[in-house]
Amino acid sequence: MTDISMMAEPYKIKMVEAIRMTTRAEREKAIRKAGYNTFLLRSEDVWIDLLTDSGTAAMSDYQWAGMMLGDEAYAGSRNFYFLEEVVRDIMGYKHLVPTHQGRGAEHILSQSLIKKGDHVAGNMYFTTTRLHQEMAGASFHDIIIDEAHKPSVEHPFKGNVDIGKLEDLIKEFGADKIPYVAIGAPVNMAGGQPISMENMKEVSRLCRKNGIKVVLDAARVLENCWFIKQREKGYEKKSLKDICRELCSHTDACTMSAKKDAYVNIGGWLAMNDDKFFTKAKELVVVYEGLHTYGGMAGRDMEAVARGFKEATENEYIVGWRVRQVEYLGNKLIDAGIPIVHPIGGHAVFLDAKAFLPHIPQEEYPAQMLAAEIYVESGVRTMERGIVSAGRDPATGKNRTPKLELVRVTIPRRAYTNSHMDVTALAIENVWKRRDAIKGLKITYEPEALRFFQARFEPV
Ligand SMILES: *Cc1c(COP(=O)(O)O)cnc(C)c1O
Repeated sequence: MTDISMMAEPYKIKMVEAIRMTTRAEREKAIRKAGYNTFLLRSEDVWIDLLTDSGTAAMSDYQWAGMMLGDEAYAGSRNFYFLEEVVRDIMGYKHLVPTHQGRGAEHILSQSLIKKGDHVAGNMYFTTTRLHQEMAGASFHDIIIDEAHKPSVEHPFKGNVDIGKLEDLIKEFGADKIPYVAIGAPVNMAGGQPISMENMKEVSRLCRKNGIKVVLDAARVLENCWFIKQREKGYEKKSLKDICRELCSHTDACTMSAKKDAYVNIGGWLAMNDDKFFTKAKELVVVYEGLHTYGGMAGRDMEAVARGFKEATENEYIVGWRVRQVEYLGNKLIDAGIPIVHPIGGHAVFLDAKAFLPHIPQEEYPAQMLAAEIYVESGVRTMERGIVSAGRDPATGKNRTPKLELVRVTIPRRAYTNSHMDVTALAIENVWKRRDAIKGLKITYEPEALRFFQARFEPV
């Protein structure tokens, strides 16, 4: 069935930003200077920037117009009350605590609910989320279904929780040692894979029975809702807003990186139903983020966040087209025979670096090198999601060795056209053709936490 309304961008371009192509010699020099870490490149040396979809969206005229309505009062800005109203309306949570971005919310959540020696479970980990849990004294446990760790396996809801694994954890540690379960919807590290409504309901049922909170990582919640609408029986005719409200109703709180599905460049929030948790979070937010009516955001930023989230929920073509564009790139790579994570996720195409470069052992960082090679080939910037991102086990100091060794080709929202996707696919194909000659890397500098952001490498 061809729905022609979904065959082109649901917007037109009002303003443009020039981007600059570089020479191969310039890029070779730039990547060496960046220690083979694409996070350390200057954006001026990048042609098409697919590093992340975080804070890289193009805002709408409705959002930009809202920026002029910023009420920059220190306390009680009207933009805060509008944001609170929008979040309540779409997600249904009782309380809102604004934060400067997602990890600000994760910090306050972890410090509010975790005691030393606790255990937190999640459907695969996310880098900053797990770090905040560990810094608060908890151990993290992955309870995602096994399929999620296998790149080539097709499954409509690869972000689902394995309920048996959660039950085992409750038996092993006791419910009173598990303050909450963190549910990513969809799961970034698994390849942007969604969780089904059915599975969310089961997680909620089990947790509520045991007095364990369910906390939603809502960074890309609208993309998850889009997948539910496309793939889950009974949701075909429901609006994204109704699906989102229902999904949130099975949880007790959420952390939000507004830099994703609120279509802004900065912002976030923590939302919850529990009054006591709200009181604690409000006490902490003034220490780490800002007053509880701005939490590190300017009034104008809160207005843009509120408008962006509202718009993306109400006009389903915004999220639909976004997911469709990722699919467009993914299908081009599949057609070229390039190994990627299946099914294609909502925010990015993930290259399977273990299958792309099988001659490079994981200890020589194949995904890190593949991202560097794609940059040198074309000026397209991507990033590593494998052994470097996984970091070290805090107990043993040893490298964690994740099953997934991936390069994330992340599509910013509304920023690039399908012509940019065409040349990106071509660039990756060119690297694929010369893959046998690519060598591994060794680390020359490594920060203690979140090493993928700043680590430096050299070819072996
Ligand atoms: C981006 C992200 C975060 C952290 O949010 P920031 O706004 O970058 O601090 C948390 N969880 C997931 C799944 C994310 O993608």
